[in-house]
Amino acid sequence: MSVEVYKLFIPKDEECIEVIRRVRWGNGYICPYCGSKDVVLKGKERRKPYIQRYRCNSCKRHFNDLTGTIFAKKRITLGEMFYIAKNLGNSSINQMSKELGRDYRTVHSFAKEIMELSEKDNLLKKLLEKNWR
Ligand SMILES: [Zn+2]
Repeated sequence: MSVEVYKLFIPKDEECIEVIRRVRWGNGYICPYCGSKDVVLKGKERRKPYIQRYRCNSCKRHFNDLTGTIFAKKRITLGEMFYIAKNLGNSSINQMSKELGRDYRTVHSFAKEIMELSEKDNLLKKLLEKNWR
């Protein structure tokens, strides 16, 4: 199948962020810096308006839905990251990089991060347990 066909199986970033938000904030917002629950909504990210921004009233720092997670500050899309996480173990890095039209190193470095973190990172663990498609 061509890259165009595989792209149909990549979830939309808007859908991914919904899942992340449900899992991460299910018991309320928590500041990733100081652990405070005194958090207020602070608009959306300008370039990615589906990502919610927050401000902590305790430490005054700003953060968003992805701050402190494996999904923050990546060059690939959320949908692509979900795709890699979901197919890891069933599909080779080489195969996934072809399907995504991304270079091997990009897919490999994210896959490696998932494998290193999946046991430790609670959000990632919960996400991997869920069948989001
Ligand atoms: Zn804080």
